[in-house]
Amino acid sequence: MTLPDLIVRPRRLRRNATIRQMVRETTLSTDDFIYPIFVDETIEEAREVASMPGVSRIPLSMVGEVTQQVAALGIPGIILFGIPAEKDAIGSGGWDDNGIVQQAIRAAKAASPETCVIADTCFCEYTDHGHCGVLHGEDVDNDETLLNLQKEAVSYARAGVDIVAPSGMMDGMIAAIREGLDDAGFKDLPIMSYAVKFASGYFGPFRDAADSTPSFGDRASYQMDPANRREALKEAWLDVEEGADMLMVKPGLAYMDIIREVKDATNLPMAVYNVSGEYAMVKAAAEKGWIDEKRVVLETMLSFKRAGADLILSYHALDVARWLREDKA
Ligand SMILES: [Zn+2]
Repeated sequence: MTLPDLIVRPRRLRRNATIRQMVRETTLSTDDFIYPIFVDETIEEAREVASMPGVSRIPLSMVGEVTQQVAALGIPGIILFGIPAEKDAIGSGGWDDNGIVQQAIRAAKAASPETCVIADTCFCEYTDHGHCGVLHGEDVDNDETLLNLQKEAVSYARAGVDIVAPSGMMDGMIAAIREGLDDAGFKDLPIMSYAVKFASGYFGPFRDAADSTPSFGDRASYQMDPANRREALKEAWLDVEEGADMLMVKPGLAYMDIIREVKDATNLPMAVYNVSGEYAMVKAAAEKGWIDEKRVVLETMLSFKRAGADLILSYHALDVARWLREDKA
């Protein structure tokens, strides 16, 4: 038996660490990350989220300090979620100029002016029923919610936010917010759209963190069906046409194909949200000693980049920044 002459041998370029590094196609940097922060108006001290070890809800008084810690690790942006003391049927806390997110925006910008402060722009944390807008019967009224989204986005803008990030999957939300911001004099404020957000089981731990579990039903009448790929492209294109500046796919791990397709189809910066359930699974397995947490997390983050993401919203961001620093040293 003779072996064939192998002319092409890909292993030649994997022979040592230096060569591997030279031909590496994708790299991770702290610049790629946005760190989510939950600000709770009802607490005085940080409170860890049981299903998300290492992640805490923090009081307003800690926002400045945490923002500075994020910045010191070289992470350029944060995204704020607020848990207000008072909730009502329409989520009016969302556009209260002295609301929890508005106050958090001001605190974050005061503590770290260079940090890009993004505000999740929705109503599920502000409504007493936990749905993402105004209800008519058991249905979220799209257009009435759009009017409130305009007020909320403008209020965040007045507080000094750098980017608004609507996440409620209302039809026309980007056009409505763009118009609202422009009319109020915020023509230069970018919108990062949660353009493709699926009705996902991976959001479970977030709802503990943000206190936003719907009191009845689910969000399948506005969030997308996980089975749909063509519709994801349609949603992305609609947001491009309505004036979105950046697009997001959420969740990440189960939707790598969607990240790639949206990236190829549009020319906007792409973000991916590495969601709470993805985080919780890694943490749980690592705690049991079943996986190497650092290795698995870095591999996953790199895969988001390889799939086309430019930005990664992740609860792992602080650890990733430390690991990247450690590996460089
Ligand atoms: Zn929502």
